[in-house]
Parts: sequence; structure tokens; C-alpha cells
Amino acid sequence: MTPMPLIFAAICDIAGKVRGKAFPADQLDRRLKRGLGWTPTNVQITCFDRIAETPFGALGDLLLIPDPEAAADVTFADGRREHFIMSDITTLEGAPWDFCMRSLLKSALGRLHAVAGVHLICAFEHEFQIRSQSPTPNLAYSREGFELQRALCETLMAALKSAGLEPDSIMKEYGPNQYEVVVAPAKGVRAADEAVILRELTRSAARNLGMAATFTPIRDPASVGNGVHIHMSFVDDSGNPVTYDENGPCGMSAITDAFAAGVLKYLPSIVALTAPSVISYERLTPHRWSAAYNNLGFRDREASLRVCPVTAKDPLSIARQFNIEYRAADAAASPYLALAAVVHAGAQGIEDGLKAPAPTEEDLSLLSPEALRARGYVRLPETLEAALDAFAAEPVTRGWFPETFAAVYRAHKMAEIAHLADMDTLTRCAAYENTY
Ligand code: GLU
Ligand code: MG
Repeated sequence: MTPMPLIFAAICDIAGKVRGKAFPADQLDRRLKRGLGWTPTNVQITCFDRIAETPFGALGDLLLIPDPEAAADVTFADGRREHFIMSDITTLEGAPWDFCMRSLLKSALGRLHAVAGVHLICAFEHEFQIRSQSPTPNLAYSREGFELQRALCETLMAALKSAGLEPDSIMKEYGPNQYEVVVAPAKGVRAADEAVILRELTRSAARNLGMAATFTPIRDPASVGNGVHIHMSFVDDSGNPVTYDENGPCGMSAITDAFAAGVLKYLPSIVALTAPSVISYERLTPHRWSAAYNNLGFRDREASLRVCPVTAKDPLSIARQFNIEYRAADAAASPYLALAAVVHAGAQGIEDGLKAPAPTEEDLSLLSPEALRARGYVRLPETLEAALDAFAAEPVTRGWFPETFAAVYRAHKMAEIAHLADMDTLTRCAAYENTY
């Protein structure tokens, strides 16, 4: 008997977990059309395997429809094969389901195109830590730190390439056992597919080498966090870059400026979706190069939205490389949902003709709340509860999603909060490290 090759139809849900079902590979054609059965209440399974309050109960049926454009089929050096396909969740009638994160992103991207005639080009930059080994000290950004994990880095980059991603670079980051991996940008929903694929393959590559990797937002508040930085630029229908204007503020074109303004305006009410764990708010504090205020930075890593430097020299390459980076995200978030929230906020900014504030250069933690407000800035929510309240309190943000979304999302996150209620911060960090 030889093992039967199976393909896993995968989604990345509210919990940011990749779940789904496997089917025999020789059924692929049929499954692309007819899908696999799925249960509505699954969306309320938290990252700790508890089922939150659910409006669906035991009722209802859905379909997972794999997207052949979003497949990862990787064989590691020891012969172990992993084959999964990112899928949409539809009703039995074939309509996008209200809680399909991938469909929510498609709808946000559709809105961006409708309001501005542009497509999003995007790359998720990820930090992760190896948690199965005690860290060797004094290796920040070092060659030695890289060499210690060269086997993992080379395995991971090969896996990414064979899954159709374009590896850019990988390095030993600042934190203990922390690494950062970067891939080339991709268009629209593909960028979020790639973020899911990258996280899964990183954990798989580590596992296949007898190690464990974690993307948890933070392992210890006394040390650094693991950020997910979302780099964004825009092209028009002909593929021409429209992000840059040499005479625009910080080099931003009018579209980029308005998009940035929308993201900054709605940041306090979307951070519950982009940094959605209890410990995410241990990371979103000043002086960690993460994001603590809704501020714009010009090449400044203390900003939640950063205008990135370009290394290109000729005008067309500058225009293509120029991008803005959303830094208030982490890997507890489904990349689909995080990106949907950011794109809606940007599209809202374009729709409302907003103008981005001037970039900050000083230490905002030294300013009083009044002084901050006078400049148009606020401290971002400092707990998940406060972030959920900010989402609930902003009708514009809530209105970007299906009618019951905000209530279902809140119920999901309240169950996650309840699971951690009696734990101290380090125990909470340990719990998240076991799930992301
Ligand atoms: N580790 C930081 C974060 O939590 C980012 C550091 C960097 O700028 O690469 O976002
Ligand atoms: Mg980094």
C-alpha cells in the first residue's frame, strides 16, 4: 500500500488560524467546482480552540472552494510533501460568505479600484522567533546568528520559491532567536495568500528540521515583538505605478496621500483587526519600533504608517519601488482581514478627499494627550478590549463589513480574552506562543 496523496483546502479565519479539510489529489478538478462542506460556527473557534458565542449554533452549511491560483505544493529535502490550496468560503448557492476573510479582502480591493481606479501591490514583511532552542546572546543582525540557522533559512527560501513566492531576503533580526523574511510584492489578494503560505511554510520548515518557529506578537514584554509590516503601492489598469510624485508630500502622489490619510484617521478603529490578540498591545507601545500612535513617519520606524526609502535611481524604478508601510499589524491577524481593514481605511480616505498630516519626527510619548490631539494624533488603544470598543464605536469602520460582522468578531475576541483572564502577562505570552 502506498500513501494516498491528499490536498488540503485551507482558509485563514478570524483567529488567524489556517484550518480546512483534505481530499484525494485525484479529485482536484471536481473539488475546484463543487468544493468541500464547511460549518459556519467554525468561525467562532478561537486560537485556543474554544468556541465563542455563535449566532450560527449547529445550523447551516457552507462550501470551501479552493482557488487553484493560491496553491502551495512543497516537497522538503527529507521527502515530506505539503500540499494546500487557499480557498474561499461560499454559501451552498455559491455567494461569498459574510465571514470568508478572503472574500472580505476581495471586496475591499474592489472598492479601492472603484474609488481610485487602482490595484494594490503589496508585500508582507514577517518577523518570527525560533522557540525550541534557548537563544545565544549578542547576535543581533549578525552573520553568526544567520549561520546558526542557515539550514532553516535555506530550507525556508527554497520552500517559498517552490510555492511560487519570490524570496527577497532573510536575516537575523534584533531579538533573541528572531529572524525576518521578506518576499517580493504581489498583486491584490495574492499578497495575503502569500502571507498565509509564508507563515505555514516557515513553521513547517522549522518542524522538518526538528525545531519550532513562532510568529506570536511578543514572547516577553521585556524584549522585542514580532511585527508584520504591510508594504503597499498602487498601479493603474495598465500596470503603471501611481504611488509616487516627486513634488508630493514625502514623495506621495495624491492617491497615496489620501489613502495614507484614511489609514491614519481610522487606525484606532481598525487596530482590533490588524493586531487582534491580547498581547498585541504589549507590542504596540512606544520605543519598540512598532506602532503606538496613528502617526505618519518619513523613513521613521516609530511610526504606524511609514513612507519607505527607495534605493532605485532612475525615475521609473523609483516610481515602482516607492511604497508606504503599515506597521501596526501582527501575525495573530488573518492577513486577509488585516489587509481588508487597511485597504478600506485607505479607500475611505480617497473617497473623502482626506489629506495626510505632516510626518512626525519627535518622540510622541513625551507629548500630552492634548498636545497630541492638537497635532491630529492619538495614542492607539492600549488593550484589546479598548481596540474592540474603538471598532464598535466607529460606524464608518463597522460599515465596511457585513452587518453582523462587528458583533460576531467581538464575541469571538471576548472568548479569547476570557480564556486568558486569570493569567499573568508572561503566561499569556506563552499561551499565544503555543498557537501562533
Ligand atoms: N520588531 C519590530 C516590530 O515589532 C520591528 C523592527 C523593525 O523595524 O524591523 O514591529
Ligand atoms: Mg524587522
